[in-house]
Amino acid sequence: MNPAELLNYGNKHLGEKKLNDAKILLEHCLKLKPSKFYFSKKNIKTCEKNSYQKLLNKRKKGLPTAYITEETEFMGLKFFVNKNVLIPRQETEILVEAVLNLLTAYHLPLTTILDIGTGCGNIAISLAKYIPDAKIVATDISKEALHVAKKNAKLNGVLDEITFFQSDIFESLTTYHLPLTTYDIIISNPPYIKSSEIKKLQKEIQHEPKIALDGGKDGLNFYKKIVPMSRKLLKKNGFLMFEIGYHHSKKIRKMLEADKFRNIKIINDYSRQERVIYGQNNN
Ligand code: GLN
Repeated sequence: MNPAELLNYGNKHLGEKKLNDAKILLEHCLKLKPSKFYFSKKNIKTCEKNSYQKLLNKRKKGLPTAYITEETEFMGLKFFVNKNVLIPRQETEILVEAVLNLLTAYHLPLTTILDIGTGCGNIAISLAKYIPDAKIVATDISKEALHVAKKNAKLNGVLDEITFFQSDIFESLTTYHLPLTTYDIIISNPPYIKSSEIKKLQKEIQHEPKIALDGGKDGLNFYKKIVPMSRKLLKKNGFLMFEIGYHHSKKIRKMLEADKFRNIKIINDYSRQERVIYGQNNN
């Protein structure tokens, strides 16, 4: 059996629309780039087939591919992930791109950024990578998540650019002496799924940390806390930027308006769902 035949087997085993998963798992197993699968004359050893089979079985049971390989990609960068962190979603790249576009539009050179609920660090790390002089503080309530985020910052060579901090939203930010006390940008992809909806979601999502998903009864718990507090931590004209769930924009816009944020904008994702909202601090 050669790699192409083994891939074919994996694809059949996982079922429809899982070719990509079968490929990623085979790449992980053989340490061979998918582009080489079709031309490789390599003879698959029994032990390789067995270890691929083990990965396929895990995937078949609903474990997300990224947790099996402990790796994913975000903004063209590699991230280590495990069950303690949410797997970065492609839609979240729209939030990061919105920051990069704003910086160009407003010619903001030096930027101080606070990333709330950093998870594996994908937002903070890609911002540190793409904004050369950015100074970033990234928080998470979970120690385990911060451990993963620090590992990723090191992996991507930006450990010195980011201060990681354990905090329930802002709780401890004001108590401790941080290198930064006010920010140009506060950014967050907070948990925003309604508590009652989580159980109904696909089996893959059930493997992700509930605290990274659960936004309370109406899904808005974190926005309700972050919006009013942000006014005090943002510089004048600073931006508060969120990822949002598809049915939340009206309510979050109202919260921002109530706290006197202006120039409020909403950005759709590639499936035309409202995905990002941001506004500018009036203070
Ligand atoms: N900031 C991370 C992400 O965007 C984690 C978000 C979360 O845990 N809710 O993927």
